[in-house]
Amino acid sequence: MLDLFFVRGLVEHLEQATPRMRLIRIGGAGVRGLSWTPGQHVRVHVKDPQAPVWAGLLRDVLRSYSVWSYDGERLELCVLDHGDGPGAQWAGALRLGDEVAFRKPEGRFVTVDSAAYHVFAGEETASVAIGAMLRGLPDEARVHGAVEVAGPQDRLPLPRGAELAWQYRGNASAAASESLVAAVRALELPDEPGAAYLAGEARTCQAIRDQLVKERGWPRRSVLVKPHWAPGRRGLE
Ligand SMILES: Cc1cc2nc3c(=O)[nH]c(=O)nc-3n(C[C@H](O)[C@H](O)[C@H](O)COP(=O)(O)OP(=O)(O)OC[C@H]3O[C@@H](n4cnc5c(N)ncnc54)[C@H](O)[C@@H]3O)c2cc1C
Repeated sequence: MLDLFFVRGLVEHLEQATPRMRLIRIGGAGVRGLSWTPGQHVRVHVKDPQAPVWAGLLRDVLRSYSVWSYDGERLELCVLDHGDGPGAQWAGALRLGDEVAFRKPEGRFVTVDSAAYHVFAGEETASVAIGAMLRGLPDEARVHGAVEVAGPQDRLPLPRGAELAWQYRGNASAAASESLVAAVRALELPDEPGAAYLAGEARTCQAIRDQLVKERGWPRRSVLVKPHWAPGRRGLE
């Protein structure tokens, strides 16, 4: 039954992309030839796919992860070790050769071809999709953005990363981050709106969208928002 809905692959490589971010490369026959647009994510079965699942625990079975890269044969995810949760536990426990079941890539958090320029903002979990989207843009695309991470060691190697404003929050929470909102406010953007892509902690995303819409006069439709998590909430989709 699971095979009707899930792709199955095997863990081929594991490494620490940053001290708190585990890069997981998944390959195998089932992973070949998937359709994926940079910015899209997969929903991973983070419990033992063979074990019975009780209805009350369903919300702990699937977790979404942006695809960091996909070359037609192997797909890479980067999962943050934020502490305790089924997704973080799954990523931390993976070993080479383990089976991974996930839904095909999905989502509308993708770059807008017709945009005059692109603005990216978010924290560690957002930087995975941001990296994939930046890699997928043509060289001539104009890029702006602000990424906030705990410290320099938490920076993923983003393509065109030097064109982004990096913000370090230290021990402060990533939730409702005023410093990230301020970093986006400080960006020198052209007068006309472009397309913005905001991801990561839910309240920070909302605050940045409000800032773009209310302070800069952007149309709401020019701002794509993908909340990844919120304090006290489990498994946002
Ligand atoms: C479209 C999409 C793409 C995503 N892409 C990625 C990705 O590429 N990499 C990635 O690591 N995550 C990503 N996420 C988040 C991911 O799906 C999980 O929410 C995250 O891994 C936490 O799951 P969990 O089961 O460990 O904890 P949960 O049970 O979901 O959460 C438990 C609690 O942990 C806290 N928490 C959760 N996440 C964080 C955090 N990042 N920092 C601080 N506290 C936190 C919250 O208080 C939460 O209530 C994405 C989410 C979505 C919706």
